Amino acid sequence: MKILFMSDLLPYYKKIFSEELEKIGIKNFELSDNYSETDTDVEFIIYSPIMLGGKLLKRDFSKFKKLKAVLSLYAGIEDVIHNKTLNCPLIKMIDKDGLTNSMVEWCLAHTLRLHLGIDRHIYGQDGIWRHKIKHPIAKDRTIGILGLGELGKSVALLLSQLGFNIYGWSRTKKKIKGVNSLVGCAGLRQTLRKSEILILLLPLTDNTKFILNEKNLSLLPKKSQLINAGRGELIDDRALIRKLRSGHIQNATLDVFQKEPLPKEHPYWSLPNVTVTPHIAADTPILSSSKVLAQNIKDLTENRLPAGVVDVDRGY
Ligand code: NAP
Repeated sequence: MKILFMSDLLPYYKKIFSEELEKIGIKNFELSDNYSETDTDVEFIIYSPIMLGGKLLKRDFSKFKKLKAVLSLYAGIEDVIHNKTLNCPLIKMIDKDGLTNSMVEWCLAHTLRLHLGIDRHIYGQDGIWRHKIKHPIAKDRTIGILGLGELGKSVALLLSQLGFNIYGWSRTKKKIKGVNSLVGCAGLRQTLRKSEILILLLPLTDNTKFILNEKNLSLLPKKSQLINAGRGELIDDRALIRKLRSGHIQNATLDVFQKEPLPKEHPYWSLPNVTVTPHIAADTPILSSSKVLAQNIKDLTENRLPAGVVDVDRGY
């Protein structure tokens, strides 16, 4: 079985992924990151985007006539989903032990940071004893989460277990303990109006692009706080900057941006109420993701579709 890494990460994966394939009973395989025209017998492609000179390297999947599936190393697949040469299932990474936990921990840390107003006591210590500023406890705080998929629902569940009031918005209605699940335009408006802290965990699609525009940002309560761990293009940056300058939005913690790395001159770097993190919210750990990839390949060779099959028409 020939498995091709359309990724520059093969050197990191080679040993561990090979071990995981062997453990699961796949013995005769060849791993390569060489895309020569003669590789027509490739059955699986492990994919991650590669940027060359600031542009995404375009891939041609059509020459791999025996291709059974493309397996993404990441949960975000917007750069490959519309590739016209892709004629087999595209499987996004669902890695509960690694990626999902990583995102849950990052969202928890920043939610608690904003909820408790921790920055106030960390930055600019000036000898003033500000003991009169109180913060609410979780049961008195409402958090909105846009996107209740693999990542959003795990974040929602944990925050609800801590006692926060949770409103979650998704395309289809969910049953998640402690979470008010809302759908549709009215559901979005209701979620935004309630969200003292709003967490974005939507994929980037035609329907979600710039979902946080001027109008929707205006629905957030005054002094609300925002966390974006989804994609930069979910937000109209100019509108957000206006809201941050006016104080309508008190703080934005942003991990993802329309252009990455975020250019040095971007206002987000200098706005005092913005925290920039460099797209580090969730890591894809090599060991846990190797286990997922090996299991997915085994499932596919035995004619079972694994979790994470992307719906091209839906866009995620
Ligand atoms: P997922 O499982 O595909 O879930 C997507 C969620 O968004 C689902 O709940 C879906 O609703 C909802 N949704 C999609 N389009 C919608 C629409 N038009 N209206 C309402 N709800 C909509 O994705 P995931 O694995 O949780 O990942 C989410 C995103 O996180 C990824 O796409 C990626 O962009 C981002 N991400 C960021 C990092 C980072 O390090 N910052 C790391 C990994 C992933 P249904 O459930 O009803 O289908």
